[in-house]
Amino acid sequence: MSGVHVWSVGLRQRFRGITVREGVLLRGDAGWGEFSPFLEYDDVVARPWLRAALEAAEEGWPDPVRDRVPVNVTVPAVDPATAHRIVREGGCATAKVKVAEPGQSLDDDVARLEAVRDALGPRGAVRVDANGGWSVDEAVTAVRRLDRAAGGLEYAEQPCASVEDLALVRRRVEVPVAADESIRRAEDPYRVRDLEAADVAVLKVQPLGGVRACLRIAEDIGLPVVVSSALESSVGIAAGLALAAALPELPYACGLATVQLFEADTVADPLLPVEGALAVRRPAVTAASLEAVRAAPDRWAHWEARLASVRQDRSS
Ligand SMILES: [Mg+2]
Repeated sequence: MSGVHVWSVGLRQRFRGITVREGVLLRGDAGWGEFSPFLEYDDVVARPWLRAALEAAEEGWPDPVRDRVPVNVTVPAVDPATAHRIVREGGCATAKVKVAEPGQSLDDDVARLEAVRDALGPRGAVRVDANGGWSVDEAVTAVRRLDRAAGGLEYAEQPCASVEDLALVRRRVEVPVAADESIRRAEDPYRVRDLEAADVAVLKVQPLGGVRACLRIAEDIGLPVVVSSALESSVGIAAGLALAAALPELPYACGLATVQLFEADTVADPLLPVEGALAVRRPAVTAASLEAVRAAPDRWAHWEARLASVRQDRSS
């Protein structure tokens, strides 16, 4: 095995507008790390993604304080029957449902939430993620309606795009508000804390620059943390799992079961949930597992150029 491997995997459902996920694995003394910024991200945005990959490959992660991490099943913006099936097959006690998808209506979201509640049973927890898709007024209306449709929402993630709007929504709805993009895309992740804009912080290891960087943010932001994936293969998910395992407290299920959305994986033993949780471990990358997801030559060229460009950008 060489120290770099470019992989490409189909998704079972369209997710955040894509049907194929790809990236690079890097091998160092501590193991394999994943560098998989989304294709539209520029070098500056991709910098922390590379820091996270190098931490995984060269340093490894802090010691865990728990050996299993409860996870949610992720439901893309699909029709109700598909949502029902995904939740049943997911085997998790918590479901995270994408809402506010461009081109869809609030009625579509309501129907999806009703199907999810039906599939989950009365005791499961349901959360929604709008990816900043609503205005303040739309969010207030939608969150209240979806809260009823779901028989109670655990929280609403990123209902609006700006942190100021998040703070306004939080003051008008009973449902707790979670901040995701307002932390990982923000110039200043602590505006969420300073404006009291959220009840929950969603942290993602690659966009925020690694496990140690996330542990520092978690400590400084002073909110309960949900660790979520950036739709990585199991090599990248392992870093999220290491973060979730190292946090002093973990009151919510994490969004780390997204390998369920992949048609194949970079490892021999994918990080898939058993009884709604992931065992804390580092999965095995083998010659065969790498070969099974090997990207086409033109994608190798793309990613090798990308890696060189972000590396150079980091050192300048
Ligand atoms: Mg989110």
